[in-house]
Parts: sequence; C-alpha cells; structure tokens
Amino acid sequence: MTYFLLHLGCQMNQSDAERVRSVIESMGYRSVDREEEADLLGIMACSVRQKAIDRVYARIHKWNQWKKNKSIITFVSGCILPADKTSFLKLFDLLFGIEDLPQLPTILRQYGVPSQLSQTTPNDTSSTDSYWNIEPSYTSSFEAYVSIQNGCDKFCTFCAVPYTRGREVSRPSQEILDEIETLVEKEYKSITVLGQNVNSYGFDKRSSEMKFAELLHNIGEIGVRSKKEFWVYFTSPHPHDMYKDVLEVVSSYPVLANNIHLPIQSGDDKILIKMNRNYRIAAYEKIVNDIRTLLPSATLFTDIIVGFTGENEAQFNNTLKAIRKYRYNMAYIAQYSPRPGAASYRWEDDITTEVKSSRFHAATNVLKEVALEENKKFLNEIQRVLVYKKARRDGFYEGKTEGRVPIQFPSDNEALIGTFVDVHVTEARSFSFAGELCAP
Ligand code: SF4
Repeated sequence: MTYFLLHLGCQMNQSDAERVRSVIESMGYRSVDREEEADLLGIMACSVRQKAIDRVYARIHKWNQWKKNKSIITFVSGCILPADKTSFLKLFDLLFGIEDLPQLPTILRQYGVPSQLSQTTPNDTSSTDSYWNIEPSYTSSFEAYVSIQNGCDKFCTFCAVPYTRGREVSRPSQEILDEIETLVEKEYKSITVLGQNVNSYGFDKRSSEMKFAELLHNIGEIGVRSKKEFWVYFTSPHPHDMYKDVLEVVSSYPVLANNIHLPIQSGDDKILIKMNRNYRIAAYEKIVNDIRTLLPSATLFTDIIVGFTGENEAQFNNTLKAIRKYRYNMAYIAQYSPRPGAASYRWEDDITTEVKSSRFHAATNVLKEVALEENKKFLNEIQRVLVYKKARRDGFYEGKTEGRVPIQFPSDNEALIGTFVDVHVTEARSFSFAGELCAP
C-alpha cells in the first residue's frame, strides 16, 4: 500500500506532516513521489493565502476524478477555516484536526484498510491522547523542527491562524525536552523550536508549566550534559511577550544560537494598532537594544507587511526607517493581501497593487543595503558552518552560519553534508557569503 502527502504552508505544517507520515508509515504504507501511484492521498492544508486554498480544491477535484477508475482514500488536515471545513467534508473522505491524529488508524479501518495495516501506530499512539507523543518521521538526518505549542491567542487582524488552529496550547515541557534529548543523541545538529508565539509558551498552563526562558535554560543544559555541538533556534517570538530573561538565557548557553527572529510587521504605531499587534515601536526598539547588548554577534531577522489597509506614504516610510535603524540581516517582506477568515478580510484593501509592489521593492532595496553592511562585518572572519547540501554551482557546497546566513564554498566532499566545518569568509553579499573551507 502506498501514500502521497502534500504539505502546504509554514514550518508548523511541515512538523505536523512529519507526524502524519509517521502514523501512516507505521500502518505499513510506503511513501511515493508520484500521486498517481498512491492508494492513500492526503493534504496538510494552509489557509494563509487564497492561492494555497485554491491548490487544495484543485487537487481534490483531480483525485475525485481518479476515483472513477481506482479505489483511493483521500484526507485533509492542517490549517482549515470553518467555512472551508464544510466544503472539504463533502469532497474528502476524511478530515481531521491534527490533535486527532492518534485516531487515524482507527478511522481508516472504517474505510476498509486491512486490519494488519491499521492496527499499529508508533509509540502505541492508539492509546495516547496527545499527537505530540507520536515520534515524527524527520525529513532530514541532521535538521529537525520541534513543536512546543499549537494555536495562537494574539488575533492579529491580518492573520487567520487563531481561527484555524484555535487557542494557544503548550506541549508538556518534559515531552519537548525528551524529544530534543533524543535528537541530540541521534547527532542532530540544528533543532528549531516551533510555535506561533514561542515566547508565550506555558502562559496557558499558568503556574503548572515552566515559562519559555526556563524551557530554553533546560535545553541549554542538555547541551552542557551532552558535550555535543549543535544549534537550537526558536521561531517566532512575539515582541509583546519578549522579555530580557529569554535573551539572557540565550547568551548563557553556546547551543542556543545567536540568531533572533523578531517580527516587526510595520514601523508605524498606527498601523501596528490596526494590525492588533499589541506593542509599539518604542517597546520593539527596547528589545532590539537588549539583543544588541546581550547578544552582540547575533543576526536579526524579521517579518514585514507592506501595503496594509490604509497604510499611507508616511507610515510606510516609518517601516523603511525601522529597517535602517534595526539593521536586519534578513526580512521576509510580504505585500499585504487579505486572508480569508482574518478580521482585515472584511476591510477595503485600498492600496493598489502598483503601490504595494513599489513599496515592496523600496523596502527590499533598503534591506539589501543594510544587510550587506551588516554582513561585511563578518568579512575575513572564520565562521562555524553547518553544511546543508551541494550548491547548484558545480564544485561548491552550501551551508549556514550560526546566524543562519547561507554560505557557499568550493569542495567536492559530499561527506561534509550534515557536519560542522570552519569557513573563512572571503566575500559578503546582501543575503549570503562566499568563503574558503579551512583545513580541519
Ligand atoms: S501572532 Fe499574529 S501573525 Fe502570529 S499566528 Fe498569532 S495571529 Fe497570526
């Protein structure tokens, strides 16, 4: 029996997809790359953009056509808006929330899947009530994502996540620490702790669970005990809940990587209020100052939306000022588009496509200048690099520095993939470096 799983959207969906694969494979299914060859076809849906939702509809219409000639089972999970849920229920054989994943084998049995295929699940998950207890089928042998929380309580007006994933639920800290400890034992080198608002971890459990800084402290201790070299990242923190204690812990443990992703979204207070971001620029700036003081060699990444409803030229210029002032190494800049299910979907999308596009280019150009200046500070330095893959350019390999800046260097040694090497930085570009491998 074979399966095909399409995952759309963010790293949270990728992490969930790894658990879905684990359950399906433990039932005896084998993954195939060609959907035409699969008996079980699934999608981890994303509702962030209409395009992603359209892809789900296009796929299921195609699969339902195939049902005329062969016996297949289809399912959908992931981020699904209530309105889409109603139509998906009519189109797919199965729809389940990720928290119901442990019940998937039982549900499949009702669809005639042979019992020898459906009765076992990894870690006996049929008897557990938490999908987090399912060991993921990690797609990489050296890089892993570890979910620590599901859902969101922030209700930014441009985002539908609180409606698709529900309210924030923190995963028990012991499970997180056990998963990370196992990954370290298996020689994983890059571990990213994932959540919609990682730094509000534990808030939902009040005093019965540790807070994010304490969780990081315990992860740092795993690093000390193991004596192994690895880097732990977290994404994304919300500026509203970003306290100094988190940065102090990061500065105390070498395994907690010097890279902070701090979404700003806009450099203008009025737009931040309209976005319901719950912080103002002065508060954001204080966190950036703390980062620069406590983690002077950390790279700083952010997310920005340009052309949000009602954004005028002066407000957009405040975003440009913010890029110049906070000196990002990387910013994921998006042109605003109303997302179905989000509060702002009901508002007039009054900034023209041309204006959004010109603001996007202006912001990208400022970012390129700033990032280049920042990256030049690393010129002629030796950087520790985790090697990821063969570069497109023949005779070159590609890795990332601790600050998550991509770097290319000449080599013909495939065995370097998944290992740490030292690279001498010989060229700085806006979003990458070039270098030479140092002798081991
Ligand atoms: S913090 Fe805002 S942008 Fe992030 S998931 Fe929650 S609602 Fe969406």
